[in-house]
Amino acid sequence: MNIPMMTLEKSKTLAQRIGKVCTFGHFIAGEWVEGSSGETIELSNPASRETLAHIQSGNVKDVDRAVNAAHEAFLKWSRTAPIERQRILLAIAERLKRRQADFAMMETLNNGKTIVEAMIDIHHCAEQFEFHAGAAFQLKGEILDYADTSILVHREPIGVVAQIIPWNVALLMASMKLGPALAAGCTVVLKPAETVCLSVLEFIKDISDLLPPGVVNVVTGYGSKIGEALVSHPKVRKVTFTGSRATAQKIIQYASMNIIPQTMELGGKSANIVCEDADLDAAAESAVMTTILNKGEVCLAGTRVFVHKKVRDAFLDRFRYQLAKVRQGDPVDPATQLGAQSSEVQFKRVNSYIELGKAEGAVALTGGGPAKIAGLENGLFIEPTIFINVRNEMRIAQEEIFGPVTGVMEWEDEAELVRLANESVYGLGGGLWTRDLARAHRISRAIQTGIVWVNRYYNIKPGMPMGGYKQSGFGRENAMEAVRSYTLTKSVVINLQEGMLHLFDRPPADKTGELSGTSKQ
Ligand code: NDP
Repeated sequence: MNIPMMTLEKSKTLAQRIGKVCTFGHFIAGEWVEGSSGETIELSNPASRETLAHIQSGNVKDVDRAVNAAHEAFLKWSRTAPIERQRILLAIAERLKRRQADFAMMETLNNGKTIVEAMIDIHHCAEQFEFHAGAAFQLKGEILDYADTSILVHREPIGVVAQIIPWNVALLMASMKLGPALAAGCTVVLKPAETVCLSVLEFIKDISDLLPPGVVNVVTGYGSKIGEALVSHPKVRKVTFTGSRATAQKIIQYASMNIIPQTMELGGKSANIVCEDADLDAAAESAVMTTILNKGEVCLAGTRVFVHKKVRDAFLDRFRYQLAKVRQGDPVDPATQLGAQSSEVQFKRVNSYIELGKAEGAVALTGGGPAKIAGLENGLFIEPTIFINVRNEMRIAQEEIFGPVTGVMEWEDEAELVRLANESVYGLGGGLWTRDLARAHRISRAIQTGIVWVNRYYNIKPGMPMGGYKQSGFGRENAMEAVRSYTLTKSVVINLQEGMLHLFDRPPADKTGELSGTSKQ
């Protein structure tokens, strides 16, 4: 991607200026407000460890204010004409395109992903709003015609929605959740991750004039402090969450208090399957891409590569050769291909998994520890790592590492391959490399997962449902199904006959016109 250096320098200066002068408030009822605790949290750059900005550490009072603001705004917003909602969503997409480099720079500085990846993220953010702008119009009810009855099935927005997003693709997650909620006519309280949310806050600041007050509210802070208050608030009617299984289990409990529906997008341990007839160069390139993209902090990453025994060595030669050429360095440099892990917690977590892999008997063919980058010696960088001698039952093959680490296993028999690929609590993504059409259909249908890419990895188009099987979650995003999940149907049943329906036999009327059997006084 060609990004003009001047644009990047301007965006970097802007991001640094924001950090120096700005403590972001919560965004409630169209205003930036200080949190009631008076406490703030620091946002930092994981590549340089410099402070970027400060945000509010929210508490229960802030959550209550935000939910009440969303509740108040709901009545009006839910009745906005679809064309008006469509216009607003398209205008939001335009803002994202106009300031693509600024938002991308904030995402890069705060998250550690490369600037090229961040530019692509922001492009996808704009697409989310464009897709959902169209969805606002497609969201229709239906009519069922019976001879004696017409049934009008209305689709009504569900109400105030709590949206909890993670730190790996902060602005894209916000876009993927705000798009369908706003299209459906819901109002929102968004809680971004406390470590990475600079791009989200700057985006909300930029679009605040486009939305009526209270339609979108943002409360920042620790999930452990405000998550329960938000999800179990009596005025919240739905929760959507992306993050870990452990946090999902808590959120599902909070949601059970008022019996509200949930959309859960959780982790993955996806199989990337290489058959003996595959284009090995392309398959190896996909393995490199899923190892390094967003430093492996991607729920859909193909972290378990299953390669056919006959082509194992040829594949590994290519995989290792291509990975060695990856340029790891300053995420702001457009030539960099692999950035820094998002936070110290994540950095330590990935390193401990690498050590665990070695202890379990896997062998690091490349990488295998922290990386030192000249000029960014304190940065949270990890070497891209290929593990061989991996067995599917090892913890590094079963648990989500969320770093630039891929385990390679071999297979010979197709039925055994399918069994191993499915032997995971997760089922989110996956890849398959073969030139055999029947085999492509056969294996992709046998894999228990939400997405299978054949002869390509990471190709997500708007409108294609995204979501998990098994413990990767439930509900779908990026599709009309997602928009519908923000609505409830109401069936209005119109009787076309005159008078009452004759459900019961009526007693015959006597001569006086009174019903026989009724008591005469
Ligand atoms: P979490 O699931 O804890 O974080 C995701 C979001 O949930 C954040 O906004 C977090 O807030 C919030 N949260 C945390 N606790 C609660 C709570 N009790 N109630 C409500 N919200 C809460 O993930 P981690 O950051 O701990 O990451 C751990 C692992 O999870 C990763 O290594 C990765 O394996 C997986 N993960 C998967 C993601 C995916 O895309 N499916 C995304 C992120 C993580 P805050 O951070 O402010 O506390």
